[in-house]
Amino acid sequence: MKTLKIAIQKSGRLNEKSVELLKNCGLNFENYKSSLISPVSNFPLEILFLRDDDIPEYVQDGIADLGIVGENVIEETEVEVAYLQRLGFGKCSLKIAVPNNNDIATLADLNGKAIATTYPVILGKYLKEKGITSDIRTISGSVEISPGLGLSDAICDLVSTGGTLKSNGLKPFADVMSSEAVLIGSKGSENNDLIQELMQRIQSVLRAKETKYVVLNVKRDNLDAVIALLPGVKSPSVVPLAEADWVAVHTVIPERDFWDRISQLKQAGAQGIVVMPIEKIIL
Ligand code: AMP
Repeated sequence: MKTLKIAIQKSGRLNEKSVELLKNCGLNFENYKSSLISPVSNFPLEILFLRDDDIPEYVQDGIADLGIVGENVIEETEVEVAYLQRLGFGKCSLKIAVPNNNDIATLADLNGKAIATTYPVILGKYLKEKGITSDIRTISGSVEISPGLGLSDAICDLVSTGGTLKSNGLKPFADVMSSEAVLIGSKGSENNDLIQELMQRIQSVLRAKETKYVVLNVKRDNLDAVIALLPGVKSPSVVPLAEADWVAVHTVIPERDFWDRISQLKQAGAQGIVVMPIEKIIL
């Protein structure tokens, strides 16, 4: 069977979460910072550690079958790859930001202005769509300092908390795109059996992350009211307790409506609610 290759970021923001995801999929490999390639001992897979800007092209050209990279990098490199799975980490947005004290009030005010960015392709498309003609200045880093140095009137850069903008006297002005880490594959890779197996593992880890395992006790009289509040994978397990008129209910609850659900369950008579993380959910 052909050994697959997956390219992940060698160092930087996405490296740790990418390694964690693959390890949570049960893959055994060494994460040596010095090596560029690491074989997986229990799956026909090799991990390539690369600069994230290079990952889309490696995948497009089939040198790597799969890659984990930010959507922003894929859009900027304009490669032809298959988007296989959003991964829920590395979330950020590409924003135009302007100095706190400035005369830019509407998008049209960016006409004729200089905007510094490391994302000229994405910014160029955005401005074209909006009918704005600006002078895009492509620089390779430290974009936030360029208005202060007189190099540009505005910037277009990735923002997650906004802290870097603030500390450079800038404020967000317009959202250009939002991004997160995604699993990409070479065109047609969706049909490969090994890739499908790996994707099932990844999806089971992601599903588990979004969900909590909940065990609670409830009087039999209140059982129907409690069950009505539980989405569960299928239907909840109901286990008799030593006290004859009480039962324990085991179920899973989506993380996003967790606290609402817990208070509703308490009101319906649930007691001794125990909440646990889940490692994997295999459907
Ligand atoms: P880096 O390690 O700084 O090269 O960032 C790698 C990737 O992390 C970027 O291409 C984005 O997809 C993602 N990312 C998430 N939050 C941010 C942020 N605040 N600034 C830069 N990149 C971010």
